[in-house]
Amino acid sequence: MDIQQRQVVIIGAGPSGSTAAALLHRQGIEVLVIEKLKFPRFSIGESLLPACMEVLEDAGMLQAVEEACFQFKNGAAFRKNGVYTEFDFCNKFTTGPGTTFQVQRANFDKVLADSAEQQGVEIRYQHEVKSIEFEGSTSIITVADESGHCYMLHACYVLDASGFGRVLPKLLDIEEPSCLPARKAIFTHIIDHIDSQKYLYDRNKILVSVHPQHSDVWYWLIPFSNGVCSIGIVATPEFFDGYAEEKIEAIKQLVQEEHSLSQLLENAEFPNAAGELKGYSANVKHLATQHYALLGNAGEFLDPVFSSGVTIAMKSAQLVVKCVIRQIKGENVDWKADYETPLMIGVNAFRTYVEGWYDGTFQDVIYYETPNDRIKQMICSILAGYAWDIKNPYVKDSKRRLTSLAELIRSS
Ligand SMILES: Cc1cc2nc3c(=O)[nH]c(=O)nc-3n(C[C@H](O)[C@H](O)[C@H](O)COP(=O)(O)OP(=O)(O)OC[C@H]3O[C@@H](n4cnc5c(N)ncnc54)[C@H](O)[C@@H]3O)c2cc1C
Repeated sequence: MDIQQRQVVIIGAGPSGSTAAALLHRQGIEVLVIEKLKFPRFSIGESLLPACMEVLEDAGMLQAVEEACFQFKNGAAFRKNGVYTEFDFCNKFTTGPGTTFQVQRANFDKVLADSAEQQGVEIRYQHEVKSIEFEGSTSIITVADESGHCYMLHACYVLDASGFGRVLPKLLDIEEPSCLPARKAIFTHIIDHIDSQKYLYDRNKILVSVHPQHSDVWYWLIPFSNGVCSIGIVATPEFFDGYAEEKIEAIKQLVQEEHSLSQLLENAEFPNAAGELKGYSANVKHLATQHYALLGNAGEFLDPVFSSGVTIAMKSAQLVVKCVIRQIKGENVDWKADYETPLMIGVNAFRTYVEGWYDGTFQDVIYYETPNDRIKQMICSILAGYAWDIKNPYVKDSKRRLTSLAELIRSS
C-alpha cells in the first residue's frame, strides 16, 4: 500500500480543522487535511460569536470572511411570554471584538477551507479516514480516496476535527455519555418576509424565543443577509411526538404556539425541506494524548442554545496548535495540563449557563428587566463567547455566581 508522510494530519475540514490547518501551516508545519465530503456541504451551526473573530484573524482568514457578505451580527435577543431583552455584544466586560456574522455554513466552511488552501494547506476532499494505529511515536492512518482505494499516512501528530463524525472517539473507544439529557432539534431555512416597520425585529441579532408553556423548549431565528432565516426548535425527543410527523408541518405548528414569533413570520414561505438532529450532546474520556487531540465537536458538544459550538471549535484549534508545535520541536507537552484543562475552562463555563438555561436559573437572569449594568456586561461577555476570560467572575466561579444571582433575582 502507498505510504505518505506528514508532520500533522487533520481529520475534517470544518471550522476546527481548517483553522488548525492554517494556524499550523503559518508556523511552518507540514499539514494535510483529509475531508470525507465535497465542499460546499450543509452543516448546522449558523450563528457565530465575536470571540471567534480573533481566531480567524490569527489564522489569516478574517479578510476572506469579511469579504463574503455574511449577515452582520452584534448581539443576541431573547423573548419569553412577551418579555423581550437583548444583549449588545459591544457592551461587554471582556475586551475583544464585539461583532461577528451569521453564516450559511455551506458557504462559510468553504470560505475557511479555501482560505487555508490559498495559504498553502493541502486538503483532500472525498477522502475518508478509516482506521488508525500507533507505532512508537508515529500514527498510522488508513484513508480511502473517492474511488475507495486505500492508502496510508504516517504522521507525528493527528488532530481529529471530524465533528459529529467523532472518528477517533469511535475508533479508539473513548466515547462517554453526555451528562446533559438527550435533546432534538428540527430546523429549516425560510424566506422570512419579516416586516421590520411593523414589528420589533433586529436582523443584526439572533432571536431566541421560549415556548409559552414549556420553558425547556426554545426556538432560534437566525437571519442571513439575503432575506432568508434559519429557524429551529429544540426540545426533548418525546416533546415532538405531540406534533405533526412531517417536520415542516411540526415547525409551523410550533411557531403558531409562540405568539410573537407567529406574528413576525406571518408572511414567511417554507420552500425547503427540514433537517433533524438528536442526541447530539457528547463527551469523551480524554481530549488528547501524545499521539492525537480532539478538536471541536469531535471532543465535546454541549448544546446549541448559546451558539457556542463554532467558537469552541476554533478556540480548541488555537489552543492545540501551540501544544503541537512544542511537541514537534521536541519539548515535553503535558496534554492534560496544557490543552485539556485550559480548553475546559470555557467549555465548563458554557456548561453552567446551558444547565442554568434548562433548569430556569439562567432564564430568570436573562429575562430580568432591571439588571445591574456591570453584571449584565459580565453575562454579555460569556454570550459573546469570551468564556475563557477568568478575570470575569461569571466565568471563574460560574456555578456559584449564577446560583446566587438567580436567588437574588427571585427574591427581589
Ligand atoms: C441543532 C444544532 C444547532 C447548532 N447551532 C449552532 C450555532 O448557531 N452556532 C454555533 O457556533 N454552533 C452551533 N452548533 C454547533 C456546530 O454545529 C458545531 O459545533 C461546529 O460545526 C463544530 O465544528 P467542527 O469543525 O468541530 O466540526 P464540523 O463542522 O462538523 O466538521 C467536521 C468535518 O469532518 C468531516 N469528517 C467526518 N468524518 C470524517 C472522516 N472519517 N474522514 C474525513 N473527514 C471526516 C465532515 O465531513 C465535516 O466536514 C449547533 C449544533 C446543533 C446540533
